[in-house]
Amino acid sequence: MDPHPVTGQAFPSPVPPGTGWPGDPASADTPVARTPAQVRRLAASADGIPDLQARLSVCRACPRLVAWRESVARDGRRASFAAQPYWGRPGPSFGDPAAPVLIVGLAPAANGTNRTGRMFTGDSSGDFLYAALHRTGYANQPTSVGAGDGLELTGVRIVATVRCAPPANKPTGDERATCLPWLARDLELSPQVHTIMTLGAIGWQGVLAAAAAMGWDVPHPRPAFGHGREVVLQRPGGHPVRLVGCYHVSPHNTFTKRLTPPMLDAVLSGLRQPSAR
Ligand code: SF4
Repeated sequence: MDPHPVTGQAFPSPVPPGTGWPGDPASADTPVARTPAQVRRLAASADGIPDLQARLSVCRACPRLVAWRESVARDGRRASFAAQPYWGRPGPSFGDPAAPVLIVGLAPAANGTNRTGRMFTGDSSGDFLYAALHRTGYANQPTSVGAGDGLELTGVRIVATVRCAPPANKPTGDERATCLPWLARDLELSPQVHTIMTLGAIGWQGVLAAAAAMGWDVPHPRPAFGHGREVVLQRPGGHPVRLVGCYHVSPHNTFTKRLTPPMLDAVLSGLRQPSAR
């Protein structure tokens, strides 16, 4: 047991559901998916975003990723965080549940979300992203150090295409496919979303696949990702949804200045407008 860095409460690593971790959406009774078929069934029957978040946050359907996330949490912690508990579970979404804008990332980082239990929290990618969200009016503070630190988002919610930290940040194709129903159901349960920004190509491809799986009208052939690229998808019933590409906020992109703060601010600032179509 180690003390939570914000609340001081002691937790084992990984954190059992429903034991008081800030923002934990699950309880000890939340049903657990252990196979791809169970992911599809539990995602499809989730009756709202809170229920969906709870179910995915205890998912165990990808053996390689479950083993990795839990081994990092138990004995693979970064030296500077060795005295902290690690979440060690899939990352639920974070932000405004009624947001019209969704930001879709790739997957949790081993010592970021996998440690803190909150999207893009506790690593340099998150530092870059939340500073920009604060500059553009979506976040009430520029830093995101740990769940329970007071950070709140308005008008935006952040999700990931794959919810578990993968070795070398590289989920396999099968793992991406297994996790897709969680994202697809999230899109279905969020009819107010008019704009989706993806961080990187895998998020872009994941949204297109999830939208197609939910019967949305998706351009064919599927458009390629690009920074600043924008396409319009149509929900069943004809409601348009903008899909906007942005380079990922990874250290590789930000340290090399492939993605700069003004570039990210420009994309974020343009997300508030629904599609003109
Ligand atoms: Fe479940 Fe997705 Fe994690 Fe696989 S990656 S174990 S489907 S939450």
